[in-house]
Amino acid sequence: MKDGKTVAIVPGSFDPITYGHIDIAKRAAALYDTVYLAVMINDQKKYTFSIEERERIAKRALYGVDNVCVISSKGMLWQLAKELSADAIVKGYRNQVDYDYEQKMAQFNAEKNPFAKTVLLEANEKYYCLSSTVVREKINNNESLEDMLPRAAINEINEILSKRKKS
Ligand code: ADP
Repeated sequence: MKDGKTVAIVPGSFDPITYGHIDIAKRAAALYDTVYLAVMINDQKKYTFSIEERERIAKRALYGVDNVCVISSKGMLWQLAKELSADAIVKGYRNQVDYDYEQKMAQFNAEKNPFAKTVLLEANEKYYCLSSTVVREKINNNESLEDMLPRAAINEINEILSKRKKS
């Protein structure tokens, strides 16, 4: 809570962001006054896009969405939650595996920072099978990303990839 307003963080790798993530951010925005979609680093993952690139793509994807602000953080989630005086950490889950993993993370974060409660939202049926992994596979196969993330974000991805080819 900051100045009487509720604050939530929607954290993740977003490598890259998809409509599934966007749906969770928009649903969080209906529940809390301010939502920070935080692009973060999970040491266990190897990324296709750098944290700066992932933030840029997410910013384009969420441009104009009221009360959702895209940020990035290289620290721990519980620390970020403290810094932002967050009331909630909102995460999506698509299946039992996601759910079990998120429960474990929620417990860890609650021990470190009891003020920020983890809220798990079930994925929208439409996006059950949508993941960053599927998007990356499409990129590798040079296939269309339409219907997986917004046009502006696809354009950003294409700009990043064409710069890479040139250098
Ligand atoms: P992943 O690498 O699993 O796609 P991220 O770390 O970027 O994931 O995901 C951030 C959060 O978004 C996680 O809580 C994850 O379960 C959730 N998420 C990922 N894809 C979807 C989706 N299609 N619908 C709802 N939530 C999702």
